[in-house]
Amino acid sequence: MNENSVRQQIIDHCIEMNRSGLNQGTSGNISVRYDDAMLITPSGIPYEQLAPKDLARLSLENNKYEWDGPFKPSSEWHFHRAILQANDNLDAVVHTHSTFATVLSIAREDIPACHYMIAAFGGNTVRCADYATFGTPELSENIQAAMTDRSACLLANHGMIAGGHSLDNAMWAAVELETLSKQYYHAKLFGNMVVLPDDEMNRVLEKFKGYGQKEKE
Ligand code: 13P
Ligand code: ZN
Repeated sequence: MNENSVRQQIIDHCIEMNRSGLNQGTSGNISVRYDDAMLITPSGIPYEQLAPKDLARLSLENNKYEWDGPFKPSSEWHFHRAILQANDNLDAVVHTHSTFATVLSIAREDIPACHYMIAAFGGNTVRCADYATFGTPELSENIQAAMTDRSACLLANHGMIAGGHSLDNAMWAAVELETLSKQYYHAKLFGNMVVLPDDEMNRVLEKFKGYGQKEKE
């Protein structure tokens, strides 16, 4: 896909993320790996007003705060770049303030294996990154710790992040994480929670390697 199409795809997903209720206003941001760079939404501009040329392009080859584009990048460029630099398997990162993930993040809770779908994020928990002010390198460091061996995390008193091997896959993961958060929230209110044991989660994690259309059965 050419760069302009990827830029348009990012804008389309931002608009869809708000339309579906997964995010609101100018909260949240999206980045996609393109060659040796990252394309990312600009800071604080309503998504409907964006044209492909308005996205910011930052090198993944260095850690400089330099970009191509007419507007400064999302305030969360630190963690978007750090995630893409540290994870070859992730080519897109979606950050949202979706309601149920954010509720759990306010309680500063890791999500346990309350549903087998937690395996979609690489393990038997989705961790909550320690709190740090938005847009800081400290927040990025806390997120990297929480995402060790995981493709997603909650951000204390803030929201969530989901990564994927493509933008579609990262958006799918963000919807799944919000769904898991909603299920966990309601299960906690309902009581009588049974968490899946590690040996079952190991089986599920093994099955997930071949889930979907990745390989023939
Ligand atoms: P930006 O508009 O700078 O991307 O900030 C939104 C946000 O979610 C900050 O955490
Ligand atoms: Zn945010």
